[in-house]
Amino acid sequence: MPVFKAEGVILRRQTIGEADRVLTLLTREHGKLRAAARGSRRVTSRLGGRLEPYTRARFLLARGRTLDVIAQVEVVDAFAGIRADLMRSAYAAYVAELADRFLPERDRHEDVFALVCATLGALDLAGEDEAELVTLRFALHLASALGYRPRAGECVGCGRPLPRGGGPGERWAFSPALGGALCPGCAGRNQEAVRTAPGVLAMVAHLLRAPSGQPIRLRIPREQRADLARLVQAHLEYRLEGRLRAPAVIERLRALPPPA
Ligand SMILES: [Zn+2]
Repeated sequence: MPVFKAEGVILRRQTIGEADRVLTLLTREHGKLRAAARGSRRVTSRLGGRLEPYTRARFLLARGRTLDVIAQVEVVDAFAGIRADLMRSAYAAYVAELADRFLPERDRHEDVFALVCATLGALDLAGEDEAELVTLRFALHLASALGYRPRAGECVGCGRPLPRGGGPGERWAFSPALGGALCPGCAGRNQEAVRTAPGVLAMVAHLLRAPSGQPIRLRIPREQRADLARLVQAHLEYRLEGRLRAPAVIERLRALPPPA
């Protein structure tokens, strides 16, 4: 069987039968691909412990008839900080879901691979609120890389710039269908647009400019944080023409009382 090498991140892991797993990898060289890890659920497996979700590794793969097969794994980064924390894991799952659902198989996207790696690196060290911002920044950068960069700095209807200092009392909106912000005047004609404060749109503009992989030191009031998360989710779900699963899981986790 011909073999090939690829560096990749494990986006998803499914169990097949008694001992096998199928992994969805996002690789630098070949884009997204699915590969079988034979016998990886057995206790004695050499591969098993190294095939955790979100692990970044160098893979040696053999071309199979239906699925490629993983022959060797050399871990580059296991992101132990993500695995040790439930909230970080939930945000990593959001990142992985976005990459998995937006990218077609075998379509090379080296910039998205770099974005995913930088984001997992930032999540590995992040506190709860920062983990959310790191994830939303990833979602916005992914949308940009795929041609859906939202316009948040000015109204997409008339070009009016966002008011400085948040424009107290003004109600702006965000239209997933138009892919951008709407001023109070233009928002009235778009019933599907999500109403929001100009300050939230300013945060979207800020995250679009913020380099991925770097820490985010932003303090955001709780209400605006929830608004921001909903807005980003609405933008991506419109493009996906479907619902994302990870945000609901995160909402449930965040609603739990903190451990005593
Ligand atoms: Zn306008």
